[in-house]
Amino acid sequence: MEQLSFQDAQQRAETLRNELNRYAYEYYVKDNPSVEDYVYDKQYQELVNLETDYPDLITADSPTQRVGGKVLDGFEKVVHDTPLYSLNDVFSKDELIAFDERVKKAIGHSVSYCCELKIDGLSISLKYENGLFIQGATRGDGSVGENITENLKTVKSIPLRLTEPLSIEVRGECYMPKSSFVKLNKQREEDGKEIFANPRNAAAGSLRQLDSKVTAHRNLSTFLYTLADFGPLEATTQDQALNELARLGFRTNDERKLCNTIDEVWEYIEAFHEKRSQLPYDIDGIVVKVNDFDLQDQLGFTVKAPRWAAAYKFPPEEAETIIEDIEWTVGRTGVITPTAIMSPVRLAGTTVSRASLHNSDYIEKKDIRLKDTVLVYKAGDIIPEVAQVIEEKRPAESEPYEIPTHCPICDSELVHLDEEVALRCINPKCPAQIKEGLNHFVSRNAMNIDGLGPRVLAQMYDKHLVGDVADLYGLEKEQLLTLDKIKDKSAENILQAIDASRDNSVERLIFGLGIRHVGSKAARILAEHFGSLEALSRAEKDEIVELNTMGETIADSVVTYFENEEVHDLMKELADRGVNLVYKGLRTSQLEEVESPFKGKTVVLTGKLLEYTREDAKEKIENLGGKVTGSVSKKTDIVVAGEDAGSKLTKAESLGIDVWNEAQMIQAIEASHIEE
Ligand code: AMP
Ligand code: ZN
Repeated sequence: MEQLSFQDAQQRAETLRNELNRYAYEYYVKDNPSVEDYVYDKQYQELVNLETDYPDLITADSPTQRVGGKVLDGFEKVVHDTPLYSLNDVFSKDELIAFDERVKKAIGHSVSYCCELKIDGLSISLKYENGLFIQGATRGDGSVGENITENLKTVKSIPLRLTEPLSIEVRGECYMPKSSFVKLNKQREEDGKEIFANPRNAAAGSLRQLDSKVTAHRNLSTFLYTLADFGPLEATTQDQALNELARLGFRTNDERKLCNTIDEVWEYIEAFHEKRSQLPYDIDGIVVKVNDFDLQDQLGFTVKAPRWAAAYKFPPEEAETIIEDIEWTVGRTGVITPTAIMSPVRLAGTTVSRASLHNSDYIEKKDIRLKDTVLVYKAGDIIPEVAQVIEEKRPAESEPYEIPTHCPICDSELVHLDEEVALRCINPKCPAQIKEGLNHFVSRNAMNIDGLGPRVLAQMYDKHLVGDVADLYGLEKEQLLTLDKIKDKSAENILQAIDASRDNSVERLIFGLGIRHVGSKAARILAEHFGSLEALSRAEKDEIVELNTMGETIADSVVTYFENEEVHDLMKELADRGVNLVYKGLRTSQLEEVESPFKGKTVVLTGKLLEYTREDAKEKIENLGGKVTGSVSKKTDIVVAGEDAGSKLTKAESLGIDVWNEAQMIQAIEASHIEE
């Protein structure tokens, strides 16, 4: 591409910055994305290129400043001009009523409360000068915290520039969503690292990284709820303050409620005690705040906490049960993980009978033994964990648990690699690892081959029908019929699904191969950039590192993977068996050239499609620049209704949205084209 003049580049950079910041705002603050990843990625890359050509164009609020990279020796201290207060806890309805009584007595009449969720993360304080984010700090002891500006810049829900050029200090909570916590721990288990006890520790650990690049990959989020000084804002109540914060670009929590009586407050508390496990983030209670600022001032503070607020803490949910057995499973990368098999017990709304014990160190540290009585709880309110052993209840004949020394499947000796806490089976021919690899290969985000569950795959492997992923493509019907419960029809379906997967665009294959650290998003970016498996196999580390969001770890892993002779044999085998090895998806650079009725449209698929699977239809429409979402709203442009479409169709009709049948959709897909 021709290089732009400085002036043009400047203008273009500004447009890109604004758009990218808007997309990020919609995605991370409003939870309502307006564009697909690749649109963002493309514009982001364009901005990176401009800033590389003209470093003077880099501004403090450029999204490129969010990737992290500065490595610190330590954190500087930050003295908070206005200390961060803590909250007085209440643990029961009686204590809550007593709080209300105190308030009413001091004020002389009843007051309304703003009830908010107590997010279980870390307090942060963010300073803005003329609308620009200049400093972020931890709470510390309330008066002195640590400067974690570089790390907080990587948190995408924190605006780098406010919608108004104000100089303010905002406070709130930084947390890790439950789903990210689960994913992170799973990855850490696979990598043989210590796991985090709960989302709060994970968030704390992520914010205390000296290398902000690590924080950038941790997917943290925020809810802001107060200011050090409300001076510059027109708010007279907490409720208004939250609206003002939202208006300035901050992420605020929408679950709050204004309550006029303490009974209403209690209803709110009970409702969220119920709903807690369904929230995407962990809460440890409810914060009840006198809504009116004047009344807050009247009530004032004690030494450490406001008299106008109380934090109701949920009672800890724990249950007692017995460890019946410890099961060891071998993962795709050879890590073996212990799971406690327990007598079933009710815990926070569900019956639990299994808890991950993570690794052998964990068992030894807690001295967990068979037949021990233990206390279990849910970490981050989601994952059953063993809190501790109740030693008084230990049977007299109890002995320390013996950690296995050999793989439960292939019997080869287990090892600790480097400093890893994980035990690994390093036998590359370990059947358990190969089976896991096959499962991964057929999974939805990989080759998406229906009908091949873990049991079928395990049988195929055990019966020597399949030794590696390429063998799937040589299977014959007679062979499938030798498997348990596979009849004529299901055999045909399986073969059809396998055959269909030959045509997948190569990012599915790249992900399916199970190259360490290469998730489905990385696979897409690699596929798009290199265009084929062949090209990727020859890629140099540097070229990979330069790509958007690719770190050294991924690059190293890819390069090492393709250094293996056997991988090249596998590639050849796949090619010989007719598996597509090139990128077919739309290159983002071609997106502008798309001519399609789906371009820029929001589409909802509902009902049964006959010609396409939902997945396929979604992929096609997205490749044509459309956005496929799950629910019908005023923003929906087109609803494609297959057979037996239900409530979504009714809703679409009531909103007067265009409804197409499958044939119309297919016609539109076929009529679309991309200029070469
Ligand atoms: P604690 O740490 O139990 O004393 O509770 C006080 C902490 O609760 C504050 O420092 C905040 O970090 C946290 N918190 C979480 N959500 C809120 C909220 N909505 N309002 C005020 N504080 C909150
Ligand atoms: Zn093994």
